[in-house]
Amino acid sequence: MSDSPALGTPFLKESRADVAIIGSGVIGATIARELSRYKLNTILIDKEVDVGWGATKANTGIIHAGYSEDPHTLRGKLCAPGNRVYQQLCEELEVPFKRIGSIVVSLNKEEIQTLCELENHAKICGVPETRILNRDELHSVIPHLTPKAVYGFYAPTAATISPYGLTIALVENAQANGVNVLIQTKVLGLKKNRQAIILNTTSGYVHTNFVINAAGLWADEISAMSGEKEFNIHPRKGEYILFDDATGEITDKIIFSVPTPVSKGIVFVPFVEGNYAVGPTAEDTEDKEDLSTSFKGLKKVLNFAEYFFPEIPFKRYIINNFCGLRPIADENDFIIRPSYNMKGLIHVAGIQSPGLTAAPAIASMVMDILMDQGLKLTLNPYFNPIRRAIPQIKGSEYKTKEKLIKANSKYGHIVCRCETVSEAEVIEAIRRGATTLDGVKFRTRCGMGRCQGGFCTPRIMEILSRELHIPLEEISKRNKGSWLIKNKVLGSDNV
Ligand SMILES: Cc1cc2nc3c(=O)[nH]c(=O)nc-3n(C[C@H](O)[C@H](O)[C@H](O)COP(=O)(O)OP(=O)(O)OC[C@H]3O[C@@H](n4cnc5c(N)ncnc54)[C@H](O)[C@@H]3O)c2cc1C
Repeated sequence: MSDSPALGTPFLKESRADVAIIGSGVIGATIARELSRYKLNTILIDKEVDVGWGATKANTGIIHAGYSEDPHTLRGKLCAPGNRVYQQLCEELEVPFKRIGSIVVSLNKEEIQTLCELENHAKICGVPETRILNRDELHSVIPHLTPKAVYGFYAPTAATISPYGLTIALVENAQANGVNVLIQTKVLGLKKNRQAIILNTTSGYVHTNFVINAAGLWADEISAMSGEKEFNIHPRKGEYILFDDATGEITDKIIFSVPTPVSKGIVFVPFVEGNYAVGPTAEDTEDKEDLSTSFKGLKKVLNFAEYFFPEIPFKRYIINNFCGLRPIADENDFIIRPSYNMKGLIHVAGIQSPGLTAAPAIASMVMDILMDQGLKLTLNPYFNPIRRAIPQIKGSEYKTKEKLIKANSKYGHIVCRCETVSEAEVIEAIRRGATTLDGVKFRTRCGMGRCQGGFCTPRIMEILSRELHIPLEEISKRNKGSWLIKNKVLGSDNV
C-alpha cells in the first residue's frame, strides 16, 4: 500500500553510522529526516517500543505563532521560523494541519498591558498580522465566550497538528530515505576513542562520528555519559481534559488565558481531528516517569473551560484526561550546542514548549552545527520528500470509499465505531510498525473516540495477534507489563 517500511531495522551487535540520534521524539525525528536528504548512514535510536512516546506524545499540538517567549531566548527566536515551514512540511508528509489562529483573552483592563507586551514580542520575532481585538471584535469572533472578556490578542498564523501523527510521518519518511530506526534500544553509555564515539546500547555497540542527544527528559543523563553532567533537566507536568466531538462547534480558534511566568497559560484548543481539549497545568515535579493526573489539576483546567465558555455543559462531554511532562533545563531555554566534554556529541536538550513548533528550525540549526563540526554533506539523489498517509474511510468522499473497498474489502469492515476506522487501516498501521494497542491508536485513532476503546480493543487485539503471529496474551497496551489479558504463560498478574 505504501513505501513506508516497518520500524526496527535488524541490528548487528556492532554497527557503524555517520550520525546516531538518541531519541525519536519530534526533535530526533525532524533531525533524522533532514539528515536523510544527504548521503549519510544515520541511525535513530529510542528505548520505547514505538516512536514519539516521550513529551511528543502528550502535548497541546499547537504550532504557535511565535510571540509568547522572550525574543532574546532560543525559544523565542526559533518559534516563528519553525511555524513558517509547517504548511509545506505537512503537505509533503500528508499530515493534517489547520492554520486556525489563536487568541489570548484578557478578562480585565489591567491585562491589556500583557497583551501589548505580546504584540511587541510578535514584532521583534517577525510574527505577521497580529493585532489586539476590542470587546466587540472579540465577541463576534468567539460567540460563546464569557461576557467578562474585554480584549484579545489575535495571531492568525497559529495552527494545530497531531504531534505524534507528525512524528510517525517524519520517521516513516526518514526511513524510506535510508535512515535506520532502532526501537526498544536504550543507550547505556558513550565512550570516545580516537576515531569515533561508541554507543553502548541494549542492542549492541554503534560506532559513530556524531551523536545527537535528543533524549528529552533524559538528555541530562546522556550528557552525564560523556564524563560530566553539563546540565539538569526536570519535568514540568501539564494535565489535560479531553472532550467528545459531540460538543458541536464551540470555537474555531485556539483560546489562551493570559500567560504566566512558567506557562503560556491554559488553553482551550480545537484539536486538528475536530474535538476539543483544555489544559495544560504547569507544575514542576521530580519524577520523570510520573504521568498521573490529579483531581486538583483537572479541576483547574475544567474551571478554565467553564469560566471562558459558561454556556457549555463541559462535564457531560469529558471522555478522558492525560498528562505530559515538559523537559525543562536549568536555564529555562533550549540547549542546542556541541558538548563541552566530548567532541562529536551535540546536545539538543531542554526542548520544552514551543519545541514542537520550533522543531524544523531546531533541525536546521543542528545541521549547521554538524557542518561546523566537520560533517561532510553530499546530497542524496534519491531523497523523496513525499510520504503517503494511510488512506482513511472517515472523512472520505463516497467515491473514494467505494474505490478503497473495491480494492480491499477490509476497508468495508469497521472495527472502531466511534472514529470509523476500518480493519484495512489497522492492518496497514501494523505493517508500518505498530505492535501495541497504542501504536495502532496513534496511527489510526482507534480507541480515541467516545467509548475510549470499549468496543474496538478486543477487535484490534485479534488483528494484532493474527498479523504479528503472536498469542493474544502477548498483546499489550504500550509495552511489556501493560498486558490486557491475565497471562499465566508469562507469569504476569496484570489483567
Ligand atoms: C504539556 C505539554 C504541552 C506542550 N504543548 C506544546 C505545544 O502546544 N506546542 C509546542 O510547540 N510544543 C509543546 N510542547 C513541547 C513539545 O511537546 C516538546 O518540546 C517536544 O515534544 C520535545 O520533543 P523531544 O523530541 O525533544 O523529546 P521527547 O518527545 O521526550 O523524545 C525524547 C525521546 O528520547 C528517548 N530516550 C530517552 N532516553 C533514551 C535512552 N537512554 N536511549 C534511547 N532513547 C532514549 C525517549 O524514549 C523519547 O522518545 C508541550 C509539551 C508538554 C509536555
